[in-house]
Amino acid sequence: MSTNASTSICILVTYDREIRAVFIGFPLDKSICVKYYIYMSKKYNEHPELEKSEIIEAIPQACADETAAVEFFEAQRWGDSPRCPHCDDKDVYQIKDRDGTRNKRYLWRCRACGEQYTVRIGAVYEDSRLPMRHWARAFWRACSSKKGVSAREIQRDCQISYKSALFLMHRVRFAMTPVSNSGRKLRGTVECDETYCGGRPRPGSGPHKRGRGTKKVPVFAMVERNGDIHRRVVPNVTGKTLKDAIRECVNKKARIITDEFKSYRGIGKEFKGGHAVVHHGVHEYVIGDAHTNTAESSFSLLKRGLVGIYHAVSKEHLPRYVGEFDYRWNTRRMNDGDRTALAIKNASGKRLIYSDQQNSAR
Ligand SMILES: [Zn+2]
Repeated sequence: MSTNASTSICILVTYDREIRAVFIGFPLDKSICVKYYIYMSKKYNEHPELEKSEIIEAIPQACADETAAVEFFEAQRWGDSPRCPHCDDKDVYQIKDRDGTRNKRYLWRCRACGEQYTVRIGAVYEDSRLPMRHWARAFWRACSSKKGVSAREIQRDCQISYKSALFLMHRVRFAMTPVSNSGRKLRGTVECDETYCGGRPRPGSGPHKRGRGTKKVPVFAMVERNGDIHRRVVPNVTGKTLKDAIRECVNKKARIITDEFKSYRGIGKEFKGGHAVVHHGVHEYVIGDAHTNTAESSFSLLKRGLVGIYHAVSKEHLPRYVGEFDYRWNTRRMNDGDRTALAIKNASGKRLIYSDQQNSAR
């Protein structure tokens, strides 16, 4: 940081090492600059989503105009170096009409393999007949709303059928969901907990339980303190199921925190950090830094979305909704533009066909 009192220019370096020059009309002394620097770096550290984003500026145009939408997807997928999706060669060019404008189907051609292609090839939108501007809107809405966006809203915004909107959103969700458990394992302090998702039991269906022992679908969460989350729909909550999930997703050096549920017993032996237990049964919720509040607040967000936005989610499709919420949680420190761009990047190399959606299982 440097100051120059005569011209009153203050150069600030923020947490992302971007240099900001701030011009102020009155002479500055060093202490004001230091205070302002601390204030600004704190502000952007706490709210990185407030950073200005070129992507957010470009999206409304992409939602309104097909050419802008195709160019937006091309830029997100290939950046400055477009490639052939068939042979990965860089020697490619856009096919132009006689008047010099882009081909109506937005075709590219590869000189290496001679194939023609568009930005759709090899991505979740490959077989879709929907215009790319609807895809842009779906990705944007799904990535910028904290609790997701319903197919009905997309149906009205894009003026397409409900069936198309539902399928569109399922594919957006599929793009957001990470490929199995390919990411890094959770480290440090990892909270584990389960919840049960599903609607209110129908009248006359007999007695029903809340919490453990219910007939609803269990969702198991493992969440790294100040880090990523990994949730999955599980067939049951036996020790074997839950411990297998923990072994698969959590680094061996981590410390596990759970409640007193018997399925977690003995897991501490396998992890260097041990196993801390909070006894919810006797109203013990926090001991030092041992609590499962992060996992529980993640469930709260998931349930608010399932109840308030989606209303009813079938057992078969629940994993994909959970994947969507996980994606937003894991990218919470990004701004909406970067989150949308990353989802679009994840969409390439993935395919989901209609029959897969019908018998979807993650
Ligand atoms: Zn090629």
